[in-house]
Amino acid sequence: MPDASVAIVGAGVAGAAAAIQLAGRGIEVDLYEAVPQPRPIGAGLLLQPTGQRVLAAMGLLDEALALGTRVDRLFGDTPAGRAVLDMSYRRFHPEAFGLGIQRGALMDLLWGRLRGLGVRWHCGAAVESFEQDPRGVTLSRADGGTARHAALILANGSFSKLRQRMKVGQHARLFPWGAVWTVLPAPADFPQIELRQRFRAASQMLGLMPVGRATHADTQRGINLFWSLPLAELDGWSTRIGLDRLKQQMAGLFPDVVPLIAGLTDPAQLREARYADVWMRHWHDGRVLAIGDCAHGMSPQLGQGANMALIDAHELAAEAGGDWPRVFERYTRRRRAHLRFYGQASRGLTPMFQSHAVVAPWLRDRFFGWGGRLPYIHQQSIATLAGYKTGWLWGRMKL
Ligand SMILES: Cc1cc2nc3c(=O)[nH]c(=O)nc-3n(C[C@H](O)[C@H](O)[C@H](O)COP(=O)(O)OP(=O)(O)OC[C@H]3O[C@@H](n4cnc5c(N)ncnc54)[C@H](O)[C@@H]3O)c2cc1C
Repeated sequence: MPDASVAIVGAGVAGAAAAIQLAGRGIEVDLYEAVPQPRPIGAGLLLQPTGQRVLAAMGLLDEALALGTRVDRLFGDTPAGRAVLDMSYRRFHPEAFGLGIQRGALMDLLWGRLRGLGVRWHCGAAVESFEQDPRGVTLSRADGGTARHAALILANGSFSKLRQRMKVGQHARLFPWGAVWTVLPAPADFPQIELRQRFRAASQMLGLMPVGRATHADTQRGINLFWSLPLAELDGWSTRIGLDRLKQQMAGLFPDVVPLIAGLTDPAQLREARYADVWMRHWHDGRVLAIGDCAHGMSPQLGQGANMALIDAHELAAEAGGDWPRVFERYTRRRRAHLRFYGQASRGLTPMFQSHAVVAPWLRDRFFGWGGRLPYIHQQSIATLAGYKTGWLWGRMKL
């Protein structure tokens, strides 16, 4: 194995996008993925204008737009009809919108592109550990194989054990709530929805988002359904709660969902999601760098994880060239303000939407809707959603 090449561990959004961006700059890349035959699965994603810019830079935005669906507005309310969130991308910028897309569709686009760039892709190659020295990094695989590389990029998700080998202050805490989710075919008579959420305090939350088609050959458009659950109920939910009761709870919270969940007939259709809050003092350690959820896993409440992963890849490529430890240090400096802001926002906002808290959601219901009608607050909220903010009071990311 050539030791001039950079190794990327994990072929999710972060790893695949980084491989594309680096290979596009003429850098030799070896991509290691644990899954023997990666298949395009995963939740529906809302890609923000920032992430869309990265897709455009990779020449993939037009195809993503053809597969996904434009989302112009987010609306969330309570069963009593109190508007909690009402955000319109157009009020941020006349041409801005979110892109609802199936993760599988996005992965197909990314994987298709990296195959065309000559990236060496090793599937079924779980990386177990690494050692670095001043000249390079040696990877050890689960099958006993080893490989030598000039540098290593960890993009293997929030629950990465490899990250713990980096000599960097860090923690990864599981959020106490997760979710079940699925993509269901939109019934013919189902109303055209934008991103739609319904909350009861913070203990019940249903989210619906149009996510377009899985492939170009598909004619059926999908709607992503998200149902929040505390971890204690998520574990073994299909026997503890059962599908019928879960559907009753969904219909009780948001009766309009009934025609959509008629298509939900088997518990196996619902996938479970658990997510962690990953914090690192910085993201580089010599010749090793962490990106994507591995570096800054967050809850999906802000719709930013995949978006941040795409931006990581783009910003890394912008610094690439020369000595890898210096490249990684510059990358950390470049990403610090943006990633710190979104980490704090995710940590602060998640309990307002997923918890047994009483006061925080009460305040949310009273002040979010009202505050959102003030132009300044709306601007700040939608700039946050669009993925541009680098600080609480000011600071915008330039892409
Ligand atoms: C329900 C839900 C809804 C979401 N909604 C949104 C949204 O609307 N918008 C948004 O931007 N984000 C959203 N996200 C977040 C988004 O899905 C993630 O942030 C994003 O997929 C992270 O990508 P990643 O490449 O960093 O990690 P992952 O997707 O976790 O990929 C890691 C890869 O590494 C591989 N791997 C793991 N260990 C090893 C190893 N030892 N060796 C080799 N390979 C390994 C794995 O098999 C996997 O392929 C959502 C997440 C969830 C759960």
